[in-house]
Amino acid sequence: MTQPLQVPSGTRCRLSDFDPDEHEGLDRQTAEAETRRHCEALDELAYRLFAESRRSVVLVLQGIDTSGKDGTIRMVASGVSPQCLDVASFKAPSALELAHDFLWRVHARIPAHGRIGIFNRSHYEDVIVVRVRKLVPEQVWRARYAPINAFEKLLSDAGVTFVKCFLHISREEQRKRLADRLQDPTKQWKLGPADLDDRLLWDDFQAAYEDAISACNMPEAPWHIVPANRKWYRNLVVARLLRQALERLDPRFPPFDPTLIKRLD
Ligand code: ADP
Repeated sequence: MTQPLQVPSGTRCRLSDFDPDEHEGLDRQTAEAETRRHCEALDELAYRLFAESRRSVVLVLQGIDTSGKDGTIRMVASGVSPQCLDVASFKAPSALELAHDFLWRVHARIPAHGRIGIFNRSHYEDVIVVRVRKLVPEQVWRARYAPINAFEKLLSDAGVTFVKCFLHISREEQRKRLADRLQDPTKQWKLGPADLDDRLLWDDFQAAYEDAISACNMPEAPWHIVPANRKWYRNLVVARLLRQALERLDPRFPPFDPTLIKRLD
């Protein structure tokens, strides 16, 4: 790897330090073959996590519109058996969700022991989009960094491993992807006026991400900045990060009761 993906805990994140075009000099074919190998390993590790049923993993995917959250989910889901996987997409909160604290709906989607949860957006929207679109006053979103850290610590103490990924694309790459969506009848449905409005707020979103990543980057739940201009490299990096996290957990099959063998008629 030619550049670090992780922002050291306690330091300020500057997204301009990370090259969204980074791809380790790999070509697409080599990267895709490597991703497939990671996915095979992931499937086996996820099966063991499921059998062990004591801990869980949350893959948090954040990024600006078109950064590739959906494509990343497709890649992980193509590798891991659905029985071990939950996907949660966090949209604008409903009236019921707004009638609770901002972490209520997120806590409800934390995967049960044995499962991998993929978060398509997350509690970080509550310090990013709400800030940029001025949906709540500054004192409200600013006061949320501490509870986010406490929440992630509570869960990590309870056996939840966070793999937090910021899918990092350039402004130019976003323009290309939006232009592609505008032209492609199979992708036009993905676009709404909000997406084009949000593009005008590019700098505000980058600043909000830098602040959130800097403030909520504890060793228990660190952020990874994933270079995402090339979709195949983004997939490789996320597959590798998820595999490494599961390998560190090294889930074990539960002990077997040998007396069961005698009970088979
Ligand atoms: P996506 O863009 O993820 O494919 P949508 O087009 O349905 O899905 O967008 C979901 C929208 O919900 C995004 O604009 C996102 O910023 C917004 N959203 C998510 N969480 C919150 C939140 N807590 N408060 C306000 N808006 C939110």
